[in-house]
Amino acid sequence: MKIPPCPDAAERAAVISELERDYPILSRSLLGRSVLGREIPLLRLGEGDVHLLYVGAHHGAEGMTAGLLLRFLSELLSAHRAGQSVEGVDLTFLLSVRTLWIVPALNPDGVELSLRGLASAGFLSDRIARMNGGREDCSTWQANARGVDLNHNYDMGFRAYKGVEASLGILGGSPSRYSGEYPGSEPETAALTRFIRSVPLSLILSLHTQGREIYFTSGGRSLPGQTTVAARFAAMTGYRAAVPTGAAAYGGLTDWAVGRLGIPSFTVECGAGTNPLPASSFIPTWHEIRPLLFRAPLYAERRAPRTEGTDADQTEE
Ligand SMILES: [Zn+2]
Repeated sequence: MKIPPCPDAAERAAVISELERDYPILSRSLLGRSVLGREIPLLRLGEGDVHLLYVGAHHGAEGMTAGLLLRFLSELLSAHRAGQSVEGVDLTFLLSVRTLWIVPALNPDGVELSLRGLASAGFLSDRIARMNGGREDCSTWQANARGVDLNHNYDMGFRAYKGVEASLGILGGSPSRYSGEYPGSEPETAALTRFIRSVPLSLILSLHTQGREIYFTSGGRSLPGQTTVAARFAAMTGYRAAVPTGAAAYGGLTDWAVGRLGIPSFTVECGAGTNPLPASSFIPTWHEIRPLLFRAPLYAERRAPRTEGTDADQTEE
């Protein structure tokens, strides 16, 4: 199946419908809705009791991550039906022992703004134009439709980040890096955190562009064994396992999942260049992260449902 490198909402919906029709093992539900009411689909496949979550497009100008996840899904389903292995992974076995949850685009309004401009933002278009400094061009827009950067809206380091934010001159809704009024204030992050708390996840991959880096810490600390896994992921992709600095170090999904829930989570900065990456980056970037997407499930370990906060003492430097 042909997957657009950076699919808009209609293109994603068409791809998902076609995959759903062709492959009954794929099921779709609604994670939630965006500020502008767009659907945020949640896809599921596999029958295992070890659960993984892959999330794309926290950021508007990083819609290519949705294309990468849909391509992964398409290739996985087709190879599974043909009884083939991919990246050395026996997919029949894999889907019997693992359950994969995929959110191709957490921030559909931001992706649409980046791709289709202000006209896509309906009643919020005037406000967004002001947040965008009066500029028509929204191609580099990262936040949601209220100007909140979803990957700073999680409940980890939120208060500390408010100081960083102020020092950057960000006092309210902005194309990027504004964390919102309180953790989980946005419908997109509220929906994802509700889901994450409801499933005993063993591993999370959060795809971003760009930088060819993998982040896996929370406040500079990681979970036992996570450094080793990050090194394996780095070796598979040729990316660098790194500890974030500056504004990138607060309030992200990985910060929250690792620091509060004890779930090994990895932020993968796919590809290289300047956001939004051009369509020509899609295939090279796909080949960089393909081994990781297929093989990461092998690094997920069975876990019991956890109570929030119980892992705080188990983190390692
Ligand atoms: Zn990002």
